Amino acid sequence: MKSILALLLFFCSGFLSVWGQSSDYFQQQSRYEIHFRLNEAQHSLSGHWKMSYQNQSADSLTEIWIHLWPNAYRNNGSPFAHQLAENGDLSFQFAADSARGGIDSLDFSSPSQSLSSSFPLGGQEMLRLELSSPLAPGDSLLIESPFHLKVPASFSRLGHQKQYYQLCQWYPKVAVYDAEGWHPMPYLDQGEFYGEFGDYDIYIELPANYWVAATGQLQTAAEQKRLADWAKACAKMDLIGLSVDPPPSLPSDSSFKQLHYQAKNVQDFALFLNKDFYVLKKEMPLATGRKLPLWAFFEAEEAYIWQLAPDFMEKSTRYYSKVMGEYPYPQITAVQGPLGAGGGMEYPMITIINPTSSKKYLDLLLAHEIGHNWWYGILASNERKHPWIDEGFNSYIESRYMQQEYGGQPLRQAYLAYLLQAQRNEEQSSALPSDSLSNFNYYLAAYAKPSLILSYLEQHLGQPKMDSILQAIYEKWQFKHLGPQELQREFEQGSGQDLGWCFQELLQDKKRVDLALAKLSNLGSDSLLVQIQNKGQAAPPIFLAYMNEEGELLQAFKLPPLAAGETKSFRIPKLAHAHSLEIDPFAYLPDYNRANQQRYFARSKRKRINLLYPSPDFTNQAPSVAPIIGYNAHDGLLLGLGVYSNPIFPKNWRYQLYPLVGTSSEQLLGQGQFTFHKGLQKGKIKDYQISLGYKRYSYFSRERYNYKLQYQRWRLAAELALRPKAGRQFRRQYIGLENLLIREEEENFERDSLNNISYLGKTASFRSVHRLYYRWENRHPLAPANYKLALEFAQYDQGQEQYLKLSLEGQKDWYYAVGKKVGLRFFFGGFPFHSDRDFGAYPLHLLSRNAHDYHYDNYVLGRNIQSGFSEQQVLIKEGGFKLPIANAQAIGDGRSNSFIGAINLRADLPIRLPFRLPYFRLQPYFDLGYFENTAPSLQLDSPADAIFYDLGLLLDIGDGLAQISYSFYSNERLRNYMKDKNNFWARFGISINLNSWSREKLTDELIGF
Ligand SMILES: [Zn+2]
Repeated sequence: MKSILALLLFFCSGFLSVWGQSSDYFQQQSRYEIHFRLNEAQHSLSGHWKMSYQNQSADSLTEIWIHLWPNAYRNNGSPFAHQLAENGDLSFQFAADSARGGIDSLDFSSPSQSLSSSFPLGGQEMLRLELSSPLAPGDSLLIESPFHLKVPASFSRLGHQKQYYQLCQWYPKVAVYDAEGWHPMPYLDQGEFYGEFGDYDIYIELPANYWVAATGQLQTAAEQKRLADWAKACAKMDLIGLSVDPPPSLPSDSSFKQLHYQAKNVQDFALFLNKDFYVLKKEMPLATGRKLPLWAFFEAEEAYIWQLAPDFMEKSTRYYSKVMGEYPYPQITAVQGPLGAGGGMEYPMITIINPTSSKKYLDLLLAHEIGHNWWYGILASNERKHPWIDEGFNSYIESRYMQQEYGGQPLRQAYLAYLLQAQRNEEQSSALPSDSLSNFNYYLAAYAKPSLILSYLEQHLGQPKMDSILQAIYEKWQFKHLGPQELQREFEQGSGQDLGWCFQELLQDKKRVDLALAKLSNLGSDSLLVQIQNKGQAAPPIFLAYMNEEGELLQAFKLPPLAAGETKSFRIPKLAHAHSLEIDPFAYLPDYNRANQQRYFARSKRKRINLLYPSPDFTNQAPSVAPIIGYNAHDGLLLGLGVYSNPIFPKNWRYQLYPLVGTSSEQLLGQGQFTFHKGLQKGKIKDYQISLGYKRYSYFSRERYNYKLQYQRWRLAAELALRPKAGRQFRRQYIGLENLLIREEEENFERDSLNNISYLGKTASFRSVHRLYYRWENRHPLAPANYKLALEFAQYDQGQEQYLKLSLEGQKDWYYAVGKKVGLRFFFGGFPFHSDRDFGAYPLHLLSRNAHDYHYDNYVLGRNIQSGFSEQQVLIKEGGFKLPIANAQAIGDGRSNSFIGAINLRADLPIRLPFRLPYFRLQPYFDLGYFENTAPSLQLDSPADAIFYDLGLLLDIGDGLAQISYSFYSNERLRNYMKDKNNFWARFGISINLNSWSREKLTDELIGF
């Protein structure tokens, strides 16, 4: 009952707030006065904070919420610390206390009443001040406090690198109170803010030779002159030479100066303090005749590229002013700095940009961050809750600017990002708040998809209409808060159209788009009948165009939307010389299948095959063909072709075929797989896939008679992935079924009465293996883990022998420093049922070697070879021991048809290695295992003989892809086996596990998430 009531209240309050915003919009007022002094030795600021807060709402306020965001850097318990680790950055988790930060020495008081403070939401970032007498509508309250701010090292936005101080999200800041109530929120790295407009007076005391870049205007006359002189001096310098040979950092002056900055009607205030800044200034005339100063602050290393910054700033300011409306503030500053949060970060009038090393990228970052003055600074949406508004509109205009400056299709990357996530069924809605989105989806949902959709909207409305609506929004909502409903309403009023397809279906509901050009037929000599089918769930209007061969638009048709599932024909005039007819030719719609929406008139020009690598053109579905080289000891060098479907296409069917010829075996060999994959958008199952695979290689050579035996394996498998709980989706579960049919050639001999052996040729036998498994994995970067519970049933010897095997295998890692971890692997397995417990041929192994991959799951250099390099291959499976010991396939030492159990420990060394390559790890290891002996021939002297252990050192390459191990000490039975190995090199165990890199993992690694 309580929850239903809460739900009802929630809906009602939502309703009221929508009404409230449209009829009785209000906005609170704040005025800050902050004085502080910089202490370089401690990397801290101490000072006094004052805020007067005016209640413009119709409510009496009994509390005021203040953000103390620097406390996010206090310890690992903050939401910021959790999120940074989840996104794969462990630097803060293992930071020294001296590198952390926080704000303290606070004592909030008011001259007019008493305040009591608390942190009812936990943590130390969201402070509630309870008022002893309510703040009536129209009344103001003055609050003040001393403060001491310890600036952390540079992990996110607030931070310092040596004596370069980036003061961002640094002071006690009042939360927004709007028609929905208070909006307290913790600081996050991925996820921005929601600010109340206000006026600021900031007074700084710092060593006299510092330069300061800040929001607002410098009021101190002496410093104005000093800055202007320095900018003039810098303009005359050889800035390229400066980058080549940067001077050392300056020592700080012992004398201090005081600076005063002032800003009006801004929703935040940021400052950057640095002695080593170089400064350039440019004045740009605005359309109204106002002269706008542009300031660029940078360090010597980046001077060669930042000399272009003032020109870039002028161009983008001019562009945004033209599209949106004139820039209203008195200056624009761009600062280069070692920010830890993305390529740049915006604050009112000032932006901070990471080192870039590319002119075009600097231009893009400056345009984007300066553009945020309009979308964030002036049109102030709740960035945390609706990240798509400021990032989406801003990225859309930024892409227009980039196209104007550089041509091409700047949003191609955005579409590819969409396609990649949609194909993996990992996409999340743009309606989600930033902290619910995965790291990659934050880019996709907030930046990429909205900028595509808004570009499509522009194409639909026409650029003049689009811009006039943007200008009307800017006129009406500047220096105010606006949300998705307000935007939709403004666009619908401005265009006179229902734009639910854009603002609801595509931006909020994540409805899938799939428009198809189903049929094209001649209608007389001058018309075409175009049949279009809406195979998706959303119903956007249709943009159809004739294109020329260069991809330029010749003639466009704007067709009305089709309902989901609807098919309709349209008559269009024929156009001679057109190369193609395409729906959405510039790929603005997040269309799931882009291969079904174009027709080429010049058919011969289409590619039938992609040589060497898949085509980056997402309309090209031709298979890729590339030469492939392989090797195993029996077949020798394997040469052939790889033929595979484009891996970035969202096709349900995929295939990879690798026909190969063995140079030594002279046989046609190879492998291949067909996979049907489907992602589901609702229900408990997220994806399922069914695959049929085949492989054939040699597994045995008989030199004497000069023949080789081959195996063939058919594999029919199905796997389903359960839908993770909503949110950032670190825990994944899979259920799978595998059926293997294995055909092995065998040699057929006859012995005569004199015991002479004669070879009669080959026979073959079949056996089958069935596996059912449940796999659980945690992808959290701080504590990755995966576990697999499997049941295996196999039949062999013409069906005479059978077993049932049950196993539990797991791997869990713990990080103890950045990039340093301790890993535990375990395996417990046994046969609840075995028809041949004493002699059965496929036992569990503590040590698995090349002969023990008897179901042909792994890549093995030389199966069944007991000499040379092949002999050293070990398989890290089952017991996971790493000693390269030759032994027979029968049960006995370390092999059991009853039960084995093992744990494998390994750890990175807590020292700095002379080589530091990201994919190499040197680790001591310890393996401990037990096997239950059922072999009639093996007599164990004591029960302790059934316990194996081994201690050594291994080099891991590519996170399990390959390992080289060397044993130092093991139990006696193992030591005795190793005694024969006189050659030092023969004592190394080598493991190769190509299965450790799944396609999914490879993609994640390549895109960096
Ligand atoms: Zn942005």
